[in-house]
Amino acid sequence: MSGAEHVVIIDSSPINRRLLQVILQKEGFETTATNHAMEAFPLVVERQPSLVVMDLALPGIDGLELCHMLKTNNITQHIPIIVISSRTRGADVMNALEAGAFDFIKKPIDQMEVLARVRSALRQRSYEKQLLDMAVRDSLTNLYNHGLIMELLGKELYNSFRRQRPLVFVMIDVDHFKSINDNFGHQAGDSVLKGLAKLLEETLRRGDYLGRYGGEEFAMVFPGLDRENGALLCERLRKKVEEFCFIHDDTTIPVTISMGAFVAGFEREWNAKEVVLLADKALYTAKESGRNRVEWS
Ligand code: GH3
Ligand code: MG
Ligand code: MG
Repeated sequence: MSGAEHVVIIDSSPINRRLLQVILQKEGFETTATNHAMEAFPLVVERQPSLVVMDLALPGIDGLELCHMLKTNNITQHIPIIVISSRTRGADVMNALEAGAFDFIKKPIDQMEVLARVRSALRQRSYEKQLLDMAVRDSLTNLYNHGLIMELLGKELYNSFRRQRPLVFVMIDVDHFKSINDNFGHQAGDSVLKGLAKLLEETLRRGDYLGRYGGEEFAMVFPGLDRENGALLCERLRKKVEEFCFIHDDTTIPVTISMGAFVAGFEREWNAKEVVLLADKALYTAKESGRNRVEWS
């Protein structure tokens, strides 16, 4: 993520747009300004700004309607909106806040007030992000936790069937992890888990997911991947871990993983539970056949 926060300004008056841009840019914000509500929606979707500052009186669409659109769209609903308007009756403020705006500034604007409210909206958004992260991420590895990776698997299986493409699901379990803990200590075990998480994360491409499934178990979701390419990828991962030098307190710790994989074909719709069961069965076979290997269900 780049340092500067991006603010999209939507206002029909060129003077107001310029004024807001000057105020915000002086404080180090990046800004994009537009005067047209219909252009504003795709612009916000594309730019994914940290904040939207908008007027209500816009050509082409009612500002409240745009506010509502942004707040009900999956991609934009988390972006806070500050309405800046010369419609300043109590009912106007109420309507804006009920349409989903975070805050309301009455025109004519005051520079200090704009900055204070912009900062307050961004602070709030950052708290929310932190809380959300705590709820869906594993604190040791910072990967998605069990709940989220299962939810994502379910969602992606649904999408895969609709788009008629396969999906590969992989369960990973560290071999003899108990003896890593026993021989090198629990902290060394933790550091292996962190290192492994990083190593696996490096192989992810856009649209893939990795989560900590349980203690020393990880789960990976590869939408759009078929069995042939999945097999190549899993084998590459297995080898990468085997060859990687895990070091804790100047001691090298040998680490290998076993993997159980399953490709959910698009001939029918799969649910997360059955896919996990099948990958787990393959993982069991991998353990039974000697570990440090990939098996498929
Ligand atoms: P296998 O090859 O059959 O998988 O053997 P294993 O020893 O890895 O399997 P087992 O399930 O018996 O052991 C898993 C161990 O992982 C037991 C548990 O104490 C340890 N463990 C689970 N979570 C953590 C963790 O967060 N940190 C550390 N250091 N150890 C953990
Ligand atoms: Mg295990
Ligand atoms: Mg294990």
